[in-house]
Amino acid sequence: MTEAAAAQAPKPNRKSTGTGWFALLSRNHLALAGLVVVVVIVILALAAPLLPLADPNATAPADRLLRPGEGGHLLGTDALGRDILSRLLWGTRVSLAVGLSATVLAAVAGSLIGLVAGYAGGRVDNWLMRGIDMIMAFPYILLALAIVAALGPGLLNALYAISVVNIPFFARNIRGITLGLSRREFVDAARLSGQSHTRIVLSEVLPNVLPVIVITMSTTVGWMILETAGLSFLGLGAQPPQADLGSMLGEGRKILFTAPFVSIIPGLMILVLVMAINLLGDGIRDVLDPRLKSGALSRPVARTAIRRDSAPADRRHLPAVLEVQDLQTQFHVKRRVYRAVGGVDLHLAPGECLGLVGESGSGKSVTAMSIMGLVPTPPGRIVGGAAWLNGADLFGMSDEQIRRLRGAAVSHVFQDPLSTLHPLYRVGDQVIEALRAHAPLTHRAARDRALDLLRLVRIPNPEERMAAYPHELSGGMRQRVCIAMGLANDPEVLIADEPTTALDVTVQAQILSLMDRLRQERDAAILFITHDFGVVSAICDRVAVMYAGRIVETGTTADILAQPLHPYTDRLIACVPVLGQPDRPLAAIPGRPPSVDALPPGCAFAARCPRAQPVCSAREIAFETVAPGRAVRCLFPLEPSNAG
Ligand code: ADP
Ligand code: MG
Repeated sequence: MTEAAAAQAPKPNRKSTGTGWFALLSRNHLALAGLVVVVVIVILALAAPLLPLADPNATAPADRLLRPGEGGHLLGTDALGRDILSRLLWGTRVSLAVGLSATVLAAVAGSLIGLVAGYAGGRVDNWLMRGIDMIMAFPYILLALAIVAALGPGLLNALYAISVVNIPFFARNIRGITLGLSRREFVDAARLSGQSHTRIVLSEVLPNVLPVIVITMSTTVGWMILETAGLSFLGLGAQPPQADLGSMLGEGRKILFTAPFVSIIPGLMILVLVMAINLLGDGIRDVLDPRLKSGALSRPVARTAIRRDSAPADRRHLPAVLEVQDLQTQFHVKRRVYRAVGGVDLHLAPGECLGLVGESGSGKSVTAMSIMGLVPTPPGRIVGGAAWLNGADLFGMSDEQIRRLRGAAVSHVFQDPLSTLHPLYRVGDQVIEALRAHAPLTHRAARDRALDLLRLVRIPNPEERMAAYPHELSGGMRQRVCIAMGLANDPEVLIADEPTTALDVTVQAQILSLMDRLRQERDAAILFITHDFGVVSAICDRVAVMYAGRIVETGTTADILAQPLHPYTDRLIACVPVLGQPDRPLAAIPGRPPSVDALPPGCAFAARCPRAQPVCSAREIAFETVAPGRAVRCLFPLEPSNAG
């Protein structure tokens, strides 16, 4: 069962990221148009020897300067009576070949220099980069001219010159990225496993910089074709009688006024070709950029899209600051629909701490982020339900109203403080920014208030710490800074999404007692997300247990810990070790949660449940209230006698 599940595991992953490159590219209409034009031109150029074209170099003085269409010459003839169509296609072939070869040469040489410099660092880096600086110190085209002048005119020498002047682009780009990568943990791990430097560069670093190399190539190849044409135009590239686009342009220049078509035709070809390649290059860059992959090319909007078919008519008028009813959030990826949250009810009284518990992937974060519209759209959308903050309908508000509430009335503390804090700003400034985003404070007043907040979350030496950057603080300190930012505007609701999961146990205990005291002193309600019942017992008043996007049991912490009703809750509690009971067996829950894009009918836990009967999978299971404040979604809940 477990093995079968493990074997299936990579499948949904591959599918969800498998937005094919062509599908992504075709969303960018300009890039697609570029691709079509490039493909047509390349096919024509490749097919030049097969097409029934005149000899591009055969002169015919009698047929000089025929206009397009005259004498069977579709695009006319040039000053020596050569067929322009034939020269154009053969010339495009040469220009493309030279441009592409120059790009590959520059990419290989530049990337190699960048990789070595970035990986080796120190003196090697210094020498290589000073060499690159020297190339960059000369005006670009002047250097190319100087190189060709030294080597002698000719297409091959033009190719070398263009490659050399483009090496710095690759070298600098790749060096920067390699520098960052070569200090990363996975490279250290490869070093520790005894791999040679060459092997590390080739197998660890290179695959990570390859997309950047391809992106740089796709965005420079157009320029290189243009530069080759430039050199040929000046008579330094292709030598007569050979045609390339630049030399055709150069030959036509002298008769621009008497026979403009001779220069306009190759000129148009250069324009169309380079523009198409650049548009395509931009498209390729977008497709290869991993940051754009998951959300496709459509950038997420500032707030989750709300497309509700059904909305609850009214709230239940509990004494609640926050109430969520029948929340349904889905992710639409290609044709798949991930029902991450499938109808969740929650409510939070002032000063109350509700624990939202469940295995990873059960939909806790998506539930919490849906409340303030923080789920990225696309692919996420809220398809049903409602949320009220102090009676105000959150899903019905304007974007501006929601923006004013975010970080003020409702604030969020995320799991990983290192990725939540901006790495380049001092933590003090980040707390000040959180304050000033919602209150018209002077900088001095905000600074004093930030100091108070840092003191409040027990950061020692707050005056000094204000000036520290996130990386200079320990994990626990950073999380405290995030909590301070969360508390900056006296929120009524604090949503803490696994805030202690990344911390060690002693720091975790400190943060928990800090949050507990803050909620008692400030009367803030806390939605505390965790997968750890140990943490729940330390801080939460009530618990909602979540499985596959739905709440399966709620009740007070004491009740649930003493007597879980849902078999899933029971197994979750059994996973927590108890101090002083070393012999107590820790029961892992067999199997895995179902994928939310293919939920089984009936109870989603049935496949892993020891008490399941066929009827559990037959129909929807109601969420039944068994006692005031206690509800469970199970047909065969545990009896008090055999609980625990
Ligand atoms: P957790 O309970 O661990 O916080 P989440 O709320 O993050 O779980 O995720 C719930 C489900 O939503 C997961 O099964 C995941 O597959 C799905 N999901 C989350 N984000 C996305 C996304 N951007 N695209 C598609 N599916 C997503
Ligand atoms: Mg989560």
